[in-house]
Amino acid sequence: MRFLTADYLYPLNISPIKEGVLQLSDAGEVVKIFENINDVSNEKLEIFEGILCPGFVNAHCHLELSHLLGVAEIGEGFLDFITAIQQRNEYSNEEILEAIENAEKEMIHNGIVAVGDICNTTDTLFQKQKANLMYYNFIETFGVHENKVDAVFIKAIELRNEFRAADQKASIVPHAPYSVPPVLLNKINNAFDEKDELLTIHMQETKAENQLFENKKGDLFNWLNGMNATSSIWENRNKSTDILKELEDKRMLLVHNTFAKTKSISDNYYCTCPKANLYIEKTLPDYSIFDADKLCVGTDSLASNNSLSILEELNIIQENSNFDLNTLLKIACKNGANALGFEQLGTFEKGKIPGVNLIGNLDGVKVTAESFIQVI
Ligand SMILES: [Zn+2]
Repeated sequence: MRFLTADYLYPLNISPIKEGVLQLSDAGEVVKIFENINDVSNEKLEIFEGILCPGFVNAHCHLELSHLLGVAEIGEGFLDFITAIQQRNEYSNEEILEAIENAEKEMIHNGIVAVGDICNTTDTLFQKQKANLMYYNFIETFGVHENKVDAVFIKAIELRNEFRAADQKASIVPHAPYSVPPVLLNKINNAFDEKDELLTIHMQETKAENQLFENKKGDLFNWLNGMNATSSIWENRNKSTDILKELEDKRMLLVHNTFAKTKSISDNYYCTCPKANLYIEKTLPDYSIFDADKLCVGTDSLASNNSLSILEELNIIQENSNFDLNTLLKIACKNGANALGFEQLGTFEKGKIPGVNLIGNLDGVKVTAESFIQVI
C-alpha cells in the first residue's frame, strides 16, 4: 500500500482536498481518500510539494506521424501543413518506428496514460502491443474521389481488423467534413458495430473549411477543385457540422473546433489541441462556447507540435479561458477518459487505476510555463 499526499489532491470526481491523502494498492488501484492528513500515520506518508491528479488522457494524437517533428513550418497555414506531411514516404521504416517509440516514451514521461490515436497505417501497432499506454485507435478515411472510395474503405476495414485482432480498440472514422463524401460516410455508418464506442472527426480547423460549406468558395474549395474532388462533399452540406446529421447520432469527439461558433456546439465531446492550432493556424478556439464537462484536450501529432505534453496544452488553455485548475484537470483527465471509454481512468474514485501525476511549481492554483509534471 502507498499513502500519497501533497498540498492538494485533485480527485476530479469530488472537489479538491487540501492535504488529502490518496491510498493506493501496490497495483495502483485507488483504495481510499483521506480528507484529513492526521488520519494516516506519519511514517507511511509520501509527501509531495504541489498537487496530485490522475493520469492525463491525450484525446487526439497521430503517433504514426512522430517522425515528422519540425518538418512543417510554423504558422504557414493548413494547406502547407498537408503538403508537408505528405513527405512521410521519404522516411525509412526504422526511422518511423524509432520516432513512434520515442514519442510514446515522451507521453509516458509527461504523465499521459491513454491516447485517442488517429491511424492511417499499422506503423504504431508494434509499439501499442507492448501495452505501455491504452489506446483508442481511430482508423482514418480520406476519399475526395468517389471512384476511389471502395478501395479506401476496404483498406480501412483491413486496418481495423488488424488493430482489433491485437486487442486494441479500433473504429473507422471520417478524416474531416471536406475530405469525406456522403458515399464514404454511408460505408462508415454501415460498418459501425457493437465494438464501436465513439467516432472522431477533425472539425472546423480552418476558416477556409467554413467558407467551403457556407459560401462554396475559398482556399479549401479551390484546393479540392484543383484535384477534381467530388462536389458531393460540399453540395448538400451548408456548414461543416452538417456532416454530423449523416452520422446518425453516433457518439462523436469533434477535434479542433478552432472556428466553431456558439450555435454549432452540440452535445458531443469536443477536443482542443491549442499548441497545434497555434503552430498551424496561429488561432485558438473561443473556449467560452464549450461545455467544460464535454471538453477534452489533445496534443495532435509531432508534425504540428514540438512536444507531447498535456500540461503545456493546459497552460495555453488557462491563458485563454476562464477555467480554474479543477476544470482544466477534468479536461485533461476525466473528460477524455469518459469520451474514449476508459472507465478505469480519469479520477481518483475507489477501484480505478488512473495513474498519479504530481504537478509542481504552480503559482498558487495556476499552471505556469515553469510548472513541471512527474509521474508518481
Ligand atoms: Zn489531427
